Amino acid sequence: MSELMSAAAELDAADPLAAVRSRFVLDDVVYLDGNSLGALPAHVPGRIEDVVRRQWGELRIRSWQESGWWTAPERIGDRIAPLVGAGPGQIVVGDSTSVNVFKALVAAVRMAGEGRDEILVDATTFPTDGYLAGSAARLTGRTLRPVPPAEVPSAVGERTAAVLLNHVDYRTGRLHDLPALTAAARAAGAYTVWDLCHSAGALPVGLDEHGVDLAVGCTYKYLNGGPGSPAFLYVRREVQDRFDSPLPGWNSHAEPFGMASAYTPAAGAVRGRVGTPDILSLLALEAALDVWDGVPVAAVRAKSLALTDFFLRCVEAYVPAGRVESLTPVAHAERGSQVALRCPDAGEVMERLVAQGVVGDFRAPDVLRFGFTPLYTSFADAERAARVLGGTLS
Ligand SMILES: *Cc1c(COP(=O)(O)O)cnc(C)c1O
Repeated sequence: MSELMSAAAELDAADPLAAVRSRFVLDDVVYLDGNSLGALPAHVPGRIEDVVRRQWGELRIRSWQESGWWTAPERIGDRIAPLVGAGPGQIVVGDSTSVNVFKALVAAVRMAGEGRDEILVDATTFPTDGYLAGSAARLTGRTLRPVPPAEVPSAVGERTAAVLLNHVDYRTGRLHDLPALTAAARAAGAYTVWDLCHSAGALPVGLDEHGVDLAVGCTYKYLNGGPGSPAFLYVRREVQDRFDSPLPGWNSHAEPFGMASAYTPAAGAVRGRVGTPDILSLLALEAALDVWDGVPVAAVRAKSLALTDFFLRCVEAYVPAGRVESLTPVAHAERGSQVALRCPDAGEVMERLVAQGVVGDFRAPDVLRFGFTPLYTSFADAERAARVLGGTLS
């Protein structure tokens, strides 16, 4: 056994989260794509079978009340809340991240008022956020200005209505300074919208603590909710009364079953809802969140950093020098839970890795992405992935 293999075995033996892996359905594939689609928690199929056969099949319409379907968006929001540092009553689950970006950004601009004519958007954003920000700007008559996140403090000013930022860069894995950037926007009187797709379930976020106004995030990545599981929307308590949704559907009405022709928004984060929730996906997510029982986010973060450190060490040992270049910051304070390696033939390299049982993903034109999900990724996985990568590139 090589030195790195025994190092991995020692790290796994000392890992306080090692037992959590058995809560998931996994095989001998090294799965490093949990930042795109989290693995299946083992108990989810049984729970969904109950939802379909009993709640839908037997109770039918009664389940909206008796099985708690109607209140699922806010109930599941409260389950996600502690994972992102939010108190109860501020998160609803539903729709996609894309749709929630739109709701949050238009609502932020409306809160900022007429005098502010500019929206700042992360220049390195995941594309969907940028497309939606462009549309939100056109609809609200504001100018959209792309700014690298680190430059937000100097770019934000009295003209800025809202700032839309990604917490972790989906390509490079760079973690942005949410506390400092939020404080800078606040000081200028602008509203913040954070996209937590690559941080929710991977690291502490501290939404309440850091004064974030609005946030959105995926649940099918580090929260393992399943393909296309609904996203979440955080509306800070202090701004809830002023949250004026651009998609005010009947589910966000103060009295949805009053069937009034006039719209009166519900109190609280519920006003972020739109129409009838997709119950099957929502309840699969609710079941999936059980894997977090007894798992502190701080422990997840500690293991995530240890895993990515160890993977980088293995890459250095196994991959011929100069063959790949890491885009992921070395400093822990600037690193999310993935490692991105630039490699000119990344597309073909990832195909060869997948064929050898190591699943990461490829982002055009030249990036290999490896996501580390501390709930189920082992140090042995990290070592094997780097070893197979080294073999492929030698
Ligand atoms: C994954 C991801 C999305 C995906 O949005 P969908 O509406 O779920 O397709 C959006 N933004 C970021 C930053 C992401 O990483």
